[in-house]
Amino acid sequence: MSEPTPEIPAEEKPTSFSVFYSCMRCGTQVSQSELTRLPEIKCICGFRVFTKVRPPVVKTIKAF
Ligand SMILES: [Zn+2]
Repeated sequence: MSEPTPEIPAEEKPTSFSVFYSCMRCGTQVSQSELTRLPEIKCICGFRVFTKVRPPVVKTIKAF
């Protein structure tokens, strides 16, 4: 008898890049982890509207 081979599903690992938010008023960029630590989402200037910013990810792909 052969043992059943356990099938390991290809799990999608959570992306490690951090999300940044930029204040609509003063442009201060705050990371998501910093925002979640705050009791309320608020910029240092008092503005509460943020836009999602993608961190500049430089991907280096070497093609031979
Ligand atoms: Zn601000």
